Amino acid sequence: MIKATSSLHIFNSLSGKKEHFTPIEEKHVGMYVCGPTVYSNVHLGNCRTFMSFDLVYRYLKHLGYTVRYVRNITDAGHLEHDADEGEDRISKKARLEQIEPMEVVQRYTVDFHQTMAAFNTLPPNIEPTATGHIIEQIEIVKSILDAGFAYEVNGSVYFDVQKFNESNAYGELSGRKIEDMIHNTRVLSGQSEKKAPQDFALWKKAEPQHIMRWPSPWGDGFPGWHLECTAMSTKYLGEQFDIHGGGMDLKFPHHECEIAQAKAINKKSPVNTWMHANMLTLNGKKMAKSTGNNILPNELFEGSNPILSKPFSPDVTRFFMLQAHYRSVLDLSSDALEAAEKGYNRLINGIKMLEHLPQSNKSSVDIDTHIQSYYDAMNDDFNSPVLIAQLFETLKLIHKVAEGEEYLTGEAIKKLAKTIHSFVYDVLGLTLNVSNNEDNTYIDKALEVLIEMREQARASKDFATSDQIRDALLSKGIQLKDGKEGTSYTLVS
Ligand code: AMP
Ligand code: ZN
Repeated sequence: MIKATSSLHIFNSLSGKKEHFTPIEEKHVGMYVCGPTVYSNVHLGNCRTFMSFDLVYRYLKHLGYTVRYVRNITDAGHLEHDADEGEDRISKKARLEQIEPMEVVQRYTVDFHQTMAAFNTLPPNIEPTATGHIIEQIEIVKSILDAGFAYEVNGSVYFDVQKFNESNAYGELSGRKIEDMIHNTRVLSGQSEKKAPQDFALWKKAEPQHIMRWPSPWGDGFPGWHLECTAMSTKYLGEQFDIHGGGMDLKFPHHECEIAQAKAINKKSPVNTWMHANMLTLNGKKMAKSTGNNILPNELFEGSNPILSKPFSPDVTRFFMLQAHYRSVLDLSSDALEAAEKGYNRLINGIKMLEHLPQSNKSSVDIDTHIQSYYDAMNDDFNSPVLIAQLFETLKLIHKVAEGEEYLTGEAIKKLAKTIHSFVYDVLGLTLNVSNNEDNTYIDKALEVLIEMREQARASKDFATSDQIRDALLSKGIQLKDGKEGTSYTLVS
């Protein structure tokens, strides 16, 4: 691995600042990312967040860290309205389709895994499920009750936010103040069991019709949504770990409640660096399952959604996502995807040229400055758009070397090729299959013109020109082949 002179800095949502990253245990990183609620197919918005953390995981590994990456599957406890109301999302789907909740879970977990694989997103090291950790969750509820930060009402247990806030700062992550929360929350109807509207469920009593239920010291019930992530993150990564990630929309209440739960029992902040990935929008609005404002990955790969002019490959989609910084909002449109496809193809073709560059005995350019710029970009809070821009700067150099305007030694070319491959394949996670787009039709047409010119030169015995055309194309990675049917071309690497 090439040593970087800059060091990794990550924007910590908790402090609101970019901070120098120092893991708790040298060379090891513990990272927890909130996974999907498996009651429907993942949409491209979900995919963006998982790709953002895939980039983080890949770069940490590239830097030489041993990473324990835990990403859960929410298969119980996430109610329809994110708060403590409505039906469990998975139970509802099971009821509507008249199938078992675990059939719902299986179907959409498989879809999630297939989609992640299509986007070349690496699997986490541990993928725990909420239903597989009910015992751990019940233990945490007991501990929070023992610590005096929760109360039981009629078979349900709620977290007492006001009590917690007396000795802690509830709202430290989201920047919300408890007074404002009280002021802005609607007054509880007489039917509510909670002492205060900002309190949240740790354990909910299961009504007779509720399918997903487990016995507990408070009767049959199911865990509150925020509890599973506290149980699974601390079980596999310890009471304090390095990185916790999720989409921006999870900051409140989900992550705020996770902090409160963990602090209530362990008396310390569970996470050193909180990372939040920003939203993918469609028509300027957040992509979401509930509003129908979303596109599914398959619709994109098939080009079957009416907003799309054509299909787009998983690799182009991934490139499109990585061209934006993970903390910026990104709007998906057919035009933006087409532009990304052009950029993606330029990148691939440029990388292919690396193999055919002429070698000199001296270099006119210091390639280490190019390599350093890749590290500087990624060390600056995983800035993939800057990394991509720097790769395009290097492509300009590659073209200049091919045209003889600059020159590089064989060793420099080899080092550059190795580094670019590792950033493009291993860090950005692109697979680099040429996208089957309309640009190729234009390339075909342009090549037909060149092949015809070469035929004419040969017919008039101007072999110097015909050889010049053949050799110039070869230096760009395009090999002409003369056969009985005429001349064809192949891309050579
Ligand atoms: P869910 O399955 O709803 O729990 O969401 C899974 C992940 O996708 C969470 O980290 C969400 O924050 C994230 N997410 C949901 N909608 C979007 C969106 N439009 N853009 C980016 N991430 C999203
Ligand atoms: Zn979570």
